[in-house]
Amino acid sequence: MSQYLLETNALSKKYKDYFAVQNVNLHIKRGEIYGLVGKNGAGKTTIMRMISGLATPTSREISLFGEMGSKVKTYFSRIGVLIEAPGLYGDMSAADNLTLKKIGIGLQEKDYIPSLLRLVGLADVGNKKVKNFSLGMRQRLGIAMALIGEPDLLILDEPINGLDPEGIVEVREILMRLAAERNITIMISSHLLEELSKMATAYGFIHKGELIKEISHDQLMKECKEYIEIQFDAPRLATPVLDQMGITDYKVVNQQTIQVYEQLARNSEINLALAKANIGIRSMTISRVSLEDYFLNLTGGETHA
Ligand code: ADP
Repeated sequence: MSQYLLETNALSKKYKDYFAVQNVNLHIKRGEIYGLVGKNGAGKTTIMRMISGLATPTSREISLFGEMGSKVKTYFSRIGVLIEAPGLYGDMSAADNLTLKKIGIGLQEKDYIPSLLRLVGLADVGNKKVKNFSLGMRQRLGIAMALIGEPDLLILDEPINGLDPEGIVEVREILMRLAAERNITIMISSHLLEELSKMATAYGFIHKGELIKEISHDQLMKECKEYIEIQFDAPRLATPVLDQMGITDYKVVNQQTIQVYEQLARNSEINLALAKANIGIRSMTISRVSLEDYFLNLTGGETHA
């Protein structure tokens, strides 16, 4: 059996003469919060729509629990989806919206709706009509709607888009709780890597319809780790000193700058060795590759939408 909950093989979607999504091979493990990262128009929604059955792939191989989606009758009942605006009835309460969907799915349990409302922090809204909800409340209700039927996989398209900082924290906490306590696998898209990095355990970077990188959160943090940045008048003279110290993982960034990626604790020793070699240092700081820069580098430095 596959070690992945969800796997796609060469997933593609062609519109007329161009591919909105091309040859995407995603690998999502059970219990993961998988961040689908990409600029606007990269193809994230199209990928999620195809996995959810809302769009027909031009070529489709999707497997859930190691079984091909097209062959699994229960495939769609295992997936809860929130793509674009949640389909809510504005004149009804949150509980009534949830009840309607519950009945539609054919679920009988009684206590179901109150516990769902508690889960998404809407236990106190009473009979308030959904049309009077804030955007954050709507998004949380949308998540509750997607949870009806106990899906194994929750697919959420830009659920934090447009939310204020408080709303973002609320959604993040709900999702982290779902993954930790219910072992629900979550696929969430966003163009905000920094925000996603506060909850995701793995990432797929989408650019111009293609998956350009899949990486675990731990690996991403390693790649965006701290480094020493040294500013000189003539860095060329400094490299033999670093070499002599056994420091090999560094980069001469430009005429004035060297970045050292290893042995950060030896910064004062480096300073001393350079001074002894009569190499003038303008500044020496410990910095970090920002997630934003990492993302920009991956996409060839194009401006981030
Ligand atoms: P994202 O979710 O990353 O912002 P989308 O998946 O919405 O990106 O869009 C990917 C590309 O596919 C975009 O160029 C978009 O304009 C195009 N696209 C999406 N839906 C359609 C459609 N129904 N017909 C033609 N082009 C589409």
